[in-house]
Amino acid sequence: MAEETTLRCCACNLALEPRKTTLNYMGHGFSVTLPRCPGCGQVYIPEALVSGRMLEVEKQLEEK
Ligand SMILES: [Zn+2]
Repeated sequence: MAEETTLRCCACNLALEPRKTTLNYMGHGFSVTLPRCPGCGQVYIPEALVSGRMLEVEKQLEEK
């Protein structure tokens, strides 16, 4: 298995751990697994992922 890039919290210098997080968007909650700092609890949300998810959710809403 290829080694994944380890993200680190810039405040604690701890490796971020994947953690299931619930995001809310337009009153709809959906869960995603995001890297989270075990020290301070900071969740790292890549902006590209957020905008991609948002578009995905908007598309789903439109189709309903
Ligand atoms: Zn931290």
